[in-house]
Amino acid sequence: MKMKILVINAGSSSLKYQLMDSESGQVYAKGLCERIGIDGRLTHKVPGRDDVKQDIPMPTHNEAIKAVMDALVDPEKGVIRSTDEIDAVGHRVVHGGAEFAASCVIDDNVIAAIERCIPFGPLHNPANLMGIRACMEAMPGKKQVAVFDTAFHQTMPPKAYIYALPYEYYEKDGVRRYGFHGTSHKYIAGQALRALGREGHPEGTKIISCHLGNGSSLAAIVDGKVVDTSMGLGPLAGFPMGTRSGDIDPTIMEYLMGRYGWDIKEMLGVLNKKSGVLGISGVSSDFRDLSAAAREGNERAALALDKFAYEVKKYIGAYAAAMGGVDAIVFTAGVGENDADMRMRIASGLEYMGVKICPKCNATRGKEEISAADSKVKVFVIPTNEELMIAMDTAELVK
Ligand code: AMP
Repeated sequence: MKMKILVINAGSSSLKYQLMDSESGQVYAKGLCERIGIDGRLTHKVPGRDDVKQDIPMPTHNEAIKAVMDALVDPEKGVIRSTDEIDAVGHRVVHGGAEFAASCVIDDNVIAAIERCIPFGPLHNPANLMGIRACMEAMPGKKQVAVFDTAFHQTMPPKAYIYALPYEYYEKDGVRRYGFHGTSHKYIAGQALRALGREGHPEGTKIISCHLGNGSSLAAIVDGKVVDTSMGLGPLAGFPMGTRSGDIDPTIMEYLMGRYGWDIKEMLGVLNKKSGVLGISGVSSDFRDLSAAAREGNERAALALDKFAYEVKKYIGAYAAAMGGVDAIVFTAGVGENDADMRMRIASGLEYMGVKICPKCNATRGKEEISAADSKVKVFVIPTNEELMIAMDTAELVK
């Protein structure tokens, strides 16, 4: 069904929005509210028109949403006559814990459950809730849907999500693997099944979805359902990312905290913001900068890229083993979609398990299948579209 869905991604001081068609993915308008709680700036973009930038006071998310509504219905910069034309609102919510295995229409119970998940997503969930509450106030009675980063991973079996800690911390405190980027992995799984000709009948398919961006994670997907993923209770886990360390030996924390007198917040600051490929290289978290530096002979930049490719390759091997094979590997997000050299590095050496990239296809922008004709495993590059996935889920729930 054709619907106009407003997709909201609320952060603590920012709010991204897109008004889009949930069927075609056509974007009518999108934009960003920044510096909420400080002063406030709106950037409003309509395809084919000049961007509009405006300073608008935004003491809270309420004024930010009001500014978005005004921009959408404005006779000159707007794209709709009234907010009645918005069929529903879809919100990105980061942590749904074990409470949510799917997207759902927001009511008081859902809000209470999102609040219960705040300890798992202390930075994101409160901000997501501010966005939800602001929309409820601005558009009373309009259906609102919550789409969780964690939900698609809820099909993992216990052996994949349990940590080898005293079981009581799982039972009492909910300590387990949850996984993130679920909206992206769900979209990619759907697109990969389409590319494999298995849309609607995913039984027996084995897919590895590689979301490689500033934050990165892999998901192992059997029969269209996640069986394992690299992030954990929080999004710091897995392999090295732009600025996040990925998995490390916890002994390192005790050692460094002792040496430098850091408390746990300072330690986590290092692991979240100063590590990953930025930490190793000392150059940048951006793979374009790293490639340029490596080409100019910077050895640490080269090492950072090497480390990233090596760890992703190891995860692919692990997930192929876990699934007992793999039919398709999909690359997506900033690095996965754009960095042909990184894709080649990751896939090279996997020929023994039937992965063979066609160098020419890999180097051609916009080419979806990049595996060689005789590759047993299909390798795809598919642009992710989390907003569209949120819009699709929202439309499905409110139709
Ligand atoms: P994302 O988090 O998905 O927006 O990805 C952002 C990251 O993608 C950036 O930090 C870059 O490292 C990477 N990226 C974007 N474009 C390119 C490109 N053309 N080549 C290599 N890396 C890129």
